[in-house]
Amino acid sequence: MLATASGMAQDKVLNIYSARHYPTDEALYSDFTKATGIKINRVDADDAGILARLKAEGAASPADVILLVDAARLWRAEVDGLFLPVKSAKLEAAIPANLRAKPADNGGTPWFGLSTRARVVVFDKLKYSKADFDSYEKLADPKFKGQLCIRSGSHPYNLSLFGAMTEHLGPQKTEVWLKGLVDNMARSPKGGDSDQIKGVASGECGVAVTNTYYLARMMRSSVPAEKAVAEKVGVVFPNQTSWGTHVNVAGGAVARHAKNTDNAIHFLEYLASPAAQNHFANGNNEWPAAKGVSFDNPALKAMTGGSFKSELIPISAVGMNQIKVQQMLDRVGFK
Ligand code: FE
Repeated sequence: MLATASGMAQDKVLNIYSARHYPTDEALYSDFTKATGIKINRVDADDAGILARLKAEGAASPADVILLVDAARLWRAEVDGLFLPVKSAKLEAAIPANLRAKPADNGGTPWFGLSTRARVVVFDKLKYSKADFDSYEKLADPKFKGQLCIRSGSHPYNLSLFGAMTEHLGPQKTEVWLKGLVDNMARSPKGGDSDQIKGVASGECGVAVTNTYYLARMMRSSVPAEKAVAEKVGVVFPNQTSWGTHVNVAGGAVARHAKNTDNAIHFLEYLASPAAQNHFANGNNEWPAAKGVSFDNPALKAMTGGSFKSELIPISAVGMNQIKVQQMLDRVGFK
């Protein structure tokens, strides 16, 4: 009796390693447990920490599902063999081909994008207008000397943006551009994206770079001080008349050495379902990755005016550029 019970308990468990650092996700996990009876154990760390942990644990890793918040890291983990390619008609039907990994040799898919976020420019509305920053290139214009706030160049969000720039401009022009960003910095990089938005609102910087959901969170905040920050800044989706705004993807995969594979696939399918996709949109202000999911997020709507043009470049190219980008950052002194 006891053996059966514990056997059942083991069957009803899912071990997740997650880089999703968003408190609003808690409802996603509890809804899954409520609907399925599968208990979730979660390890939270950043993308790099999760990859390092999976490598150190090897075949002994308890991880069943991996959630990462950057396309280049998903690509890296795939290349390093940390994912178990899986077949799921539901996931293949829901997630567009450009937002998931190319099929592996066995026909399975190594990872699936589950939501997207744009990397945009916010600026001091009293000083500047959208036209001042309608391309990423303009951030390096010497006329903005001492105005730019941006988080560390080595953070995955920036490595991916700069890796994409390298695809668009080529490495030489990108390095000149990065040097221009360093020359324009208002302060040495510190803090996360929210801190850069706050820097603009406080007047410490004139312009900053952020993922869209950080701004949307402030726009929708019930905390007056947060709302006030959002009201002071303008937002622009750069490169609408050229290659499009840089978009990153957060996604999930089954771990290479997963023990609860069925539960893991089931969970990823759940994350691609309209209910969970709506949660990404309304809870964390991301754009759903699944096709045909309707959502109503006033902040995202206000930001874009409806829709925007996003860049279309292979995630593998962005991933492969990371080492090159890090070397450029070192050379131009971008911390
Ligand atoms: Fe983030």
